[in-house]
Amino acid sequence: MKIVIIGSGLAGLSAGYRLCKANEVIVFEKDPDIGGMAASYCLEHSKNKYFIERYYHHIFRSDSELLALIRELELEKQMLWLEAKNAYFVDDKYYPMNTPVEILHFSPLSILDLVKLGLLVLRVRLIKDTEPYDQIKAKDWILDTAGKSVYENFFAPLMKSKFGDNAEKVSAAWLIGRVKIRSDRGKEGEKLGYMRGGFNALIEALAGEITANGGEIQTTKEVTEIVVKDNAVQGVVVGGDFIACDAVISTVEPKVLDAITGGKLGTLHDSLINISYQGTACALIGLDRQLMKDGNYWLNIKADVPFGAVIEHTNYLPFEDYGEHLVYVTSYFQDEKSPLWAQNEENIIDSYLKGLEKMFPGFSRKEVHWTKLYRRIDTAPVYEQGYLKNVLPFAAGSSGLYLAGMFSSTNYPERSLNGSVKAGFEAAELLMKNK
Ligand SMILES: Cc1cc2nc3c(=O)[nH]c(=O)nc-3n(C[C@H](O)[C@H](O)[C@H](O)COP(=O)(O)OP(=O)(O)OC[C@H]3O[C@@H](n4cnc5c(N)ncnc54)[C@H](O)[C@@H]3O)c2cc1C
Repeated sequence: MKIVIIGSGLAGLSAGYRLCKANEVIVFEKDPDIGGMAASYCLEHSKNKYFIERYYHHIFRSDSELLALIRELELEKQMLWLEAKNAYFVDDKYYPMNTPVEILHFSPLSILDLVKLGLLVLRVRLIKDTEPYDQIKAKDWILDTAGKSVYENFFAPLMKSKFGDNAEKVSAAWLIGRVKIRSDRGKEGEKLGYMRGGFNALIEALAGEITANGGEIQTTKEVTEIVVKDNAVQGVVVGGDFIACDAVISTVEPKVLDAITGGKLGTLHDSLINISYQGTACALIGLDRQLMKDGNYWLNIKADVPFGAVIEHTNYLPFEDYGEHLVYVTSYFQDEKSPLWAQNEENIIDSYLKGLEKMFPGFSRKEVHWTKLYRRIDTAPVYEQGYLKNVLPFAAGSSGLYLAGMFSSTNYPERSLNGSVKAGFEAAELLMKNK
C-alpha cells in the first residue's frame, strides 16, 4: 500500500515508523527541516556543537507512549529526570513556587486564599474524568471553587498569558488537566524528563527507521491538495505534481486540512473551521552568564512585558552540555494581527530584551552571544468551552484519509509530544485494520 503522510512532526513520523515496514511510505514536509514543533536548532559554541529545541520541551513520567517509543528505539539511556524549579514573577516581585512552604509565602494571596487554592488542587487530583468539565468555563469553575481573589491574583494572569483574549473562553477541562499534571510532584518536588542531547535524537531515530525501511521523507514540499474522488483518496498535489497513493495521513492544522480538501470533508467541515489555533513567538538567547541566579527553570510572569514566561534551559540541564547559558523568552499570540506575528524579527527580539532589562536589573545586552526567534501561527488548539465536540476522529469516513495531530482525542485536554505520538500510532493502526 502506498501511503502519503503530510507533516513530519511527531504525529507524522510516529505514523510513518509504524507503517514503513509493511508499506510504501512518503512523508511530505513543507518546512526545510523535519520535526515540526519539536524541531531543533543545531548550534556551535566554543567548538561545542549541540542541538537545542526551537520551542522549550520537557516530558512527564505519565507520558507512557512516548517513553515506550524511546525505549523501543534504544534511546532510553539518554533520558534524564531532573528537578526543575518554578517561580511566579508578580508586579516586580519574584516568588519561588516549589514547596508548600514557598507557596505559603505567595503574598498576592491571603492565607485564606492559599487554603482555597490548596483545596482546589486537592479537588483536581480527585477528578478522574475531565470530560464533564468541557462544558464549563475555567473562569466560572475557579470562581465557584476558590473565589474571586484566587482567580484574579493567581489563575487569571497565567491564563491570560497562555490564551490572550481567549482566556475567559477556555474550558475547565483544560485547566483541570494542567493543574493535575503540574501538581503531581511527589516529595522531591517536580522532576521533568528530557533527552540528553535533545529530542532531536528521537526525531532523527524515527526518520532513520522510515528511510531504512525504504520510506521517503521529502522536505520543503508543501501538499496543496488532497485529491478525493467518489469518496476515495486518489493522491496529493505537491509542487504542482500529482502523486497517486492509496491512503493519506494528515497531521496539519484543521483549517489547512479544510483548505487542501477544498472544504469537501462533509460533516467534518464544521469542526475543521471551528477549531481555533494560536501561535507562539519564542526567542532563544545564548548568554555569558546565568540569568536566574537561584537556579530557577520556569518563571511565569504577571508584569508589563511582552512575554508570559522565561525558561532557563541551563538551570535544568547542565551548563557544561552547551558551554553557554540558554534562555527561552516566550509568548503565545492569538492571530495574524498580533504584533508578535506582524512585526519583524528584530523588533520582537528588541522588545523581549527590553523586557528582560526591566525584570532583571543586572541583565545587560552585552552578555548576549546570539538570539534566535521561532514563530509559528499553528502551535496549539484553543481549548474553549465545548471544544470536545470538535475533536477530530482518526479516520475521515471510509475515504482512505486518516487524521492524527494536536486536534486528536489523544491530545485532549492539552497537546503534547506524547499525545501526538499516540495519535500517529492510532491512525496507523486504524489504517492497517481497514486495509
Ligand atoms: C512553545 C511550545 C512548547 C511546547 N512544550 C512542550 C513540552 O514541554 N512537552 C510536550 O510534550 N509538548 C510540548 N509542546 C507541544 C508539542 O511540541 C506538540 O504537541 C507536538 O510537537 C505536535 O506534533 P504534531 O506532529 O502533532 O504537529 P506538528 O509538530 O505541528 O507537525 C505538523 C507538521 O506538518 C507540517 N505541515 C503543515 N502544513 C503542511 C502542508 N500543507 N504540507 C506539508 N507539511 C505541512 C508542519 O510544517 C509541521 O512540521 C510544546 C509546543 C510549543 C509550541
